[in-house]
Amino acid sequence: MEVYTKFDPKKIEGDIRSYLGGVDQASLLDKEMSNVNSVLGYIEGPPTLNGEPHVGHLRGRIIKDMWYRFKTLQKYRVIFRAGWDTQGLPIELQAEKLLGLTGSKSENIKRVGVESIVNACKQLIQTNATKWIEVDHLLGMSFDYERAYWTYKDEYIEREWKYLKKAWEIGILKEWFRVVAYCPSCQTSLSNAEVNQGYKNVEDPSFYYKVKMSEEEAFLIVWTTMPFTLITDELIGVNPDATYVYVNVNDQVWVVGQDRLQSLMNELGIINYESIRLGIINYESIRTVLGKNLEGRRYIHPLLETIPGLKRLSDEKSIHFVVAEQFVDVSTGSGLVHLAPANGEEDFEIATKRCIPIFVPIDDKVVFTEEAGQFRGMYVRDADEMVINAMREASAYVKVGKIVHQYPTCWRSGHKIVWLARREYFYMIDKLGQNPLSAASKVEYFFDSPRNRFLEIIKEKVPWCISRERIWGTPLPIWKCNSCGTKEALFSRTEIIGRASELPDGTDFELHRPWIDRIQLKCSHCKDIMSREPFVLDTWHNSGASPYASLSDSEYSQLIPAAFLTEGIDQTRGWAYTLLMENVIMRNTNQAPFHAFLFQGHMLDEKGNKMSKSLGNVEQEPGKCYGC
Ligand SMILES: [Zn+2]
Ligand SMILES: [Zn+2]
Repeated sequence: MEVYTKFDPKKIEGDIRSYLGGVDQASLLDKEMSNVNSVLGYIEGPPTLNGEPHVGHLRGRIIKDMWYRFKTLQKYRVIFRAGWDTQGLPIELQAEKLLGLTGSKSENIKRVGVESIVNACKQLIQTNATKWIEVDHLLGMSFDYERAYWTYKDEYIEREWKYLKKAWEIGILKEWFRVVAYCPSCQTSLSNAEVNQGYKNVEDPSFYYKVKMSEEEAFLIVWTTMPFTLITDELIGVNPDATYVYVNVNDQVWVVGQDRLQSLMNELGIINYESIRLGIINYESIRTVLGKNLEGRRYIHPLLETIPGLKRLSDEKSIHFVVAEQFVDVSTGSGLVHLAPANGEEDFEIATKRCIPIFVPIDDKVVFTEEAGQFRGMYVRDADEMVINAMREASAYVKVGKIVHQYPTCWRSGHKIVWLARREYFYMIDKLGQNPLSAASKVEYFFDSPRNRFLEIIKEKVPWCISRERIWGTPLPIWKCNSCGTKEALFSRTEIIGRASELPDGTDFELHRPWIDRIQLKCSHCKDIMSREPFVLDTWHNSGASPYASLSDSEYSQLIPAAFLTEGIDQTRGWAYTLLMENVIMRNTNQAPFHAFLFQGHMLDEKGNKMSKSLGNVEQEPGKCYGC
């Protein structure tokens, strides 16, 4: 090669490519392979094929390849297969876009049907995989693409199901009625990890209202930032140890938290007793009571007559009374909070603990049902204003303002999350005991801060909601009897064929919706029809299953734990977490599927922001080189 007199990266790149183009690297490697020390496994953290690679992805790929080359030079044979994350929300939403669909999930299915969406997903991942492989070649990546794993393929799905089988056997996999984070646009629940990705500053109403107590001439003053949850209101919470004060305000008696009295009255523009001589609206404290002494006092919901479902429960006296609970924060609002168990995690737990029925007049589209009376047919958040107006008419209005606060939004669609009581499937992580933490503690992380962050997340032991109400994903292979509710889990194609009473697509059906949904079983108890539970799996479950699902049985036992894996720092709540949990479940012991994990920092743009497609700072101007 000539010696360059001028630095021209484009020319140098071209020259190097044409030089390397003549070398068959694979055959070079094969020659070397005859002389290896031992075999090492590697598991590729699969990129999601909803788009093309960009500069933010590249450094991680280069680190992986460097490690591979280094280990190869040390005479290890490294199993270095590519892997592709091919299912789930990001792919499905992108496919909907390509089909020109702009509505919510249910509108889109109505327009084109499940099969067209599935076909569009498959096409999309093929197109994007081609682009990824092209860029990998330009980078000089050494992945084995022929033996790459694809999370949507039937053989992968059947092996992924083995994790579910193990979890089912050891009692970790459970159906549970519980409040989950739910995206109204994507119409699916989201995991804790997904919710943590999308906190933003949002504006909400700050609404004070009053409810009349049943047995005394007094009003409880309550604060909420989600007026629509008055439709699912069941209880009012006070702190048992806090002092509450009865105050006279314009000839009405109000009950508020003593700590909040002064600032609340200021906020509401009500002046204290001293000002009475000046003839200004005033308040005067009458007496105080401890929160625990308010427990059990009943109140009259101001909108009762217009919400039939709520009226029924209230008439039965199962709801609408005060509960004293430690979680109630007396430093904000009025010191009293209302509890809407259908729309709040803590609210739900308190109601469940007290065996109070949960009123959920909300459907899959997050729209109020018949039971919500005058609010039926409305998207819940659109009901805020109507609720405030109805409260005004019912003389229950105190004040409405605005508040800007941190609130989770959907990481894909940007919509505000709604907390919703739903039936979902969970991995009960706390039942794994100390195994996850013990497994994670034995790993080498190279730096303290990501290590500590990862271990803290493991310690949370939050139940992992693994079910999603979408189309394009690994189906949950559990069937439920339409009459008696008996459940049966079938974790392989052979088991399904053996039990099916209806196989409308023959025995080589595809393990995806809509085909798998057509398969019916006959209940072994009551002989009625059993239908598949209508869920697919969290896409993070797909990639977390890769150690077992992408390898053969013998490879898995020989190569896992892998010596070294690396991904971005955001994967502490993502892939690293699901890999670890699933491996602990699969082996039912305290073993991580990796000995070392390097969490890389993000690639940043010129303003210091993370480079990612969703932030729109990775589009490359034609002809502009980002290397110089
Ligand atoms: Zn969404
Ligand atoms: Zn049955």
